[in-house]
Amino acid sequence: MTIQKMILTQCAVCATELGLSLGKKCGRCSTRYCGPECQKQHWEQGGHDQLCKKIKKAGGAEQYNANKKYTEAVADAAEACTDDTKGQTCFICTQALHWKTKEGLVRGCSCRGTAGFAHVSCLAEQAKLLCDEAEENNLDMGSRWERWYLCSLCEQDYHGVVSCALGWACWKTYVARPEADMARINAMTQLGNGLQDATNYEDAFSVREAALFMLRRLGASENLILGAQSNLANSCKKLGQVEQALSLQRYVYFGDIKLYGEEDEHTISAANNYASSLNDLQRFEEAKSVLRTTMPVARRVLGESHELTLKMRRNYAVTFHEDTSATLDDLREAVTTLEETVPIARRVLGGSHPLTEEIDDELRNARAALAAREGDLCEALEAI
Ligand SMILES: [Zn+2]
Ligand SMILES: [Zn+2]
Ligand SMILES: [Zn+2]
Ligand SMILES: [Zn+2]
Repeated sequence: MTIQKMILTQCAVCATELGLSLGKKCGRCSTRYCGPECQKQHWEQGGHDQLCKKIKKAGGAEQYNANKKYTEAVADAAEACTDDTKGQTCFICTQALHWKTKEGLVRGCSCRGTAGFAHVSCLAEQAKLLCDEAEENNLDMGSRWERWYLCSLCEQDYHGVVSCALGWACWKTYVARPEADMARINAMTQLGNGLQDATNYEDAFSVREAALFMLRRLGASENLILGAQSNLANSCKKLGQVEQALSLQRYVYFGDIKLYGEEDEHTISAANNYASSLNDLQRFEEAKSVLRTTMPVARRVLGESHELTLKMRRNYAVTFHEDTSATLDDLREAVTTLEETVPIARRVLGGSHPLTEEIDDELRNARAALAAREGDLCEALEAI
């Protein structure tokens, strides 16, 4: 059997890349093949004669795949949360075990204490109902769509495997709609983000690549294309293709400035991504210059406790302490920046949030670098 990609862009038998439109589909269930030979083989030896009807009944190959992946992702998330959720109940259905699916509880936001435990399917059901209501009554979708990725209690993003399970939930909810449907387009983004959050970078990349390809083919508006390019760049970076990521991020950053202006969250986020890749490539002076312009804007427009502001301040500290030519004052500024940022991250996101842990690590590193440099200085003075 071949390994299936997250969304179906390959021949089901030989894994030839088909993009979103090439090849041939099973006339009954839409399973995709490169050509009649693979289709025939799948039917005769690959067990498709047994599965075809079942896939068709589920709503076709893409839906069938999404349902299957969703179930696996929910099980993974509940499993990862087992210790944390012991003895708790779902804040939506009030049960420990889901009455119908028998799934366990998860919590992957910034809720603390006994707050925020839920079943993925209850969170998904809630999000779906809110979005359905907006669609039926022509209400603004913006804040309702957030329920697919933002906790309604602590108002912070879901992270890790919980974000991934919700990504699959969202995709499975909207995958059957026409390609140009906004909810389906956004659901593809949620899926990519969820896979990225769960560190499935290759899968995230393939979903995001397919999304960008689809948007271009549909002639989508510039804001959608820029968003898709930005997501793709983040996946490139995680796969170690930092140069490609950087050139995409630079393009998106200047595109965002033109489209949204300098004080918009899109632009601020693009600036942070761009600076972070400059750091990775040790181009610290350029990173510093981007962050010096945009970080004050983030602090003013988004506020000190916004996740993006925290990320920017972390990246700003990185430009100092990883730079071998940094002065003692630079290192002190890095430590001070992080010392200010850590308590905010702890208060807003909680101590076990991945970003809080990153900032904590960075502070430890920056302090060690500063101590080492001060030690060198003492030795040098003693030598004199
Ligand atoms: Zn094939
Ligand atoms: Zn079939
Ligand atoms: Zn529930
Ligand atoms: Zn929460």
